[in-house]
Order: sequence, then C-alpha cells, then structure tokens
Amino acid sequence: MKPEEQHATAPTDPAFYKELLDHMGDGVYFVDRERRILYWNEGATRLTGYTAEEILGRHCQDDILCHVDALGTHLCQEACPLSASIDDGHLHEAHVFLRHKQGRRVPVDVRVQPMRGADGTIIGAVEIFSDASAHYEAERKANAMKRMAFLDHITQLPNRRFLEMSLRTALSEFDEHKDPFGVVMFDIDGFKEINDTFGHSCGDRAMQEVSKTLLGALRPTDVVGRWGGDEFVAIVGNVDRKILHMLVHRCVVLVEQTVIVSDDGRTVLPSISAGAALVHAGDTAEDLIQRADALMYQSKAGGRNRSTTE
Ligand code: GH3
Ligand code: MG
Repeated sequence: MKPEEQHATAPTDPAFYKELLDHMGDGVYFVDRERRILYWNEGATRLTGYTAEEILGRHCQDDILCHVDALGTHLCQEACPLSASIDDGHLHEAHVFLRHKQGRRVPVDVRVQPMRGADGTIIGAVEIFSDASAHYEAERKANAMKRMAFLDHITQLPNRRFLEMSLRTALSEFDEHKDPFGVVMFDIDGFKEINDTFGHSCGDRAMQEVSKTLLGALRPTDVVGRWGGDEFVAIVGNVDRKILHMLVHRCVVLVEQTVIVSDDGRTVLPSISAGAALVHAGDTAEDLIQRADALMYQSKAGGRNRSTTE
C-alpha cells in the first residue's frame, strides 16, 4: 500500500477518537459558547473524581470544579480561561487548583484552545488539564517510607520521625553550605469541634484532605508531614522571607478552599493556622520548631485561618 493510501484509511468513526481521548492521561473537556460542558473524558474523571454523568450538561460557571488560583481567586466567575479563549480566539494557559470531588485541592496545568465550526466561527473551547502535583512522586516515596516505618498511616504523609530526620539533614546542610530553609508549623482550627459535630471518621477524612491540599500547595522538593494530632510540619528549602510567606499563605488559602462532605451530606469547611520560621545561624531543630510553634499560636490568637511569618 502506498503511503497516501494508508492516510486515506485513517479512522472516520467518532467512537475511535472518543476512545483515543479517553485513554489519554490528561483530562479533556469541551464547552460550548455558554460554557456548557458537552464532553468529559475518563482522564477528567480520574483527576477530579466526577464522572461524565455528573458533569455533562452542567455549566463551567456553576462552579462545580471551583477553579481557584494560588491566591484563592475564583476563576470560574472572575477570570475563566475558557471564556478568554472563546472571546479572543487564542490559546490560554494557567496553573490552577481544582476541587476534587472528595474535597481536596489539586494543582493542575490547564491549556485552553478555542474550537471553530466549519464556517470558522468559534463554537466553544476545549480544556486539557494535567496533574501538576507531586502526588505520583509522593506515592512512590510513601511506599518506600512505609517499609522504613516513616509513614503516618492516617494521612499517608511522612511521620514525625521522618520530619525530625529531615530537619537534622537540612540543618547540617545549612551549617555546611548556608542553604537557607524554613520550618512551618500548621494546626487545624477547631478540629475538636469537627470531630464532635461530624464524627471521628469524618474528622480523619478532613485531616486526609487537608494533608493532600498541603502537599499540592507546596513544591515537590518541600517535605510536609504529620507532627502529631492535628499538627503538620513542613520543611521548605531555598527560601527567603518573601517566598516562605508566599508558600505558607498559599497553604492557608487552599485549605480554606477545601470542602469535605460528611457521611450525612453536611458540608465541612476546614481551616488552618500557620507559623513560619526562617533558619538562623546556631539554630537547633528544637529552636526552629519552637519558633514556628510560637508563630502558629500568634496566628491562632489573631483569629485563626491565617499565617504568621517571622
Ligand atoms: P484550635 O483551633 O485551637 O487548634 O482548636 P482544636 O479544636 O483544633 O484544638 P487542638 O488542636 O488542641 O485539638 C486537636 C484535636 O485533634 C484533639 C483530638 O481529638 C483531635 N485529633 C488528634 N488526632 C486525631 C486523629 O487522628 N483523628 C481525629 N479524627 N482527630 C484527632
Ligand atoms: Mg487544632
């Protein structure tokens, strides 16, 4: 067969292309000019937890996925890349945080292209989104940690033993190379009340969703783990005060945007208070943890759902 004849046999059956899209790792969906979702692939279901049956026919502006940027701005109402592409006919890219059906915030890289009809007019837009989090890498690390007894079984994050070891490593690297780093202490606000109101297992689930949001809000090279109870510690490398503040603020904002639904259908809205300390010459691990803890308590005293950076 000549090459041009091979070309001529390319499949024309739409089912072939649907199958092709469904097997992509990325999420893909199509909206019409009113931003009504008319196509939703299996990758989109895997990344968001929502099936095509739950999504098709809904409007992007219904805010079901509730995209926010790193500052917590709701894009669906205020700065939707789909609207932008439909309006100006150009490619739009964004790094956003969507809300998984289970409640957590997932960082995704989004690309939006306008779609044109046969006459060239814009009939809608297609969004392709991929998981930008370190979850796969985190899963691999979690398996390794489980074998080494460094894993917290409720959150699947590193446990206190692992955090203490990472802190010692960061301190010795700071002594040797002066690599600056920060330590952040997080504590869930009013967690006792969440347990009392919605039950302990819902509390566990809230803690798991908050953990995943923190993991996605920080950078792949940062370490975040459970310190104990409802407290988490992050060790963030290569930061100055400004970057440290930006990262910790992003964590607080994205936890505030995390929504858990209790078994009986009630909405649980968690928040955290955070304190971030920068390493100083001569600091011990205890000094750093104590300073981060004291700053976290300043955030609690200041009204909770906020961060305080040294
Ligand atoms: P605050 O805003 O002052 O932090 O109020 P809070 O209610 O969160 O107070 P605190 O941090 O002192 O309470 C932590 C609570 O977390 C107490 C304990 O019942 C609960 N807790 C600790 N570990 C777990 C756990 O593994 N699962 C669940 N569901 N709850 C836990
Ligand atoms: Mg608490």
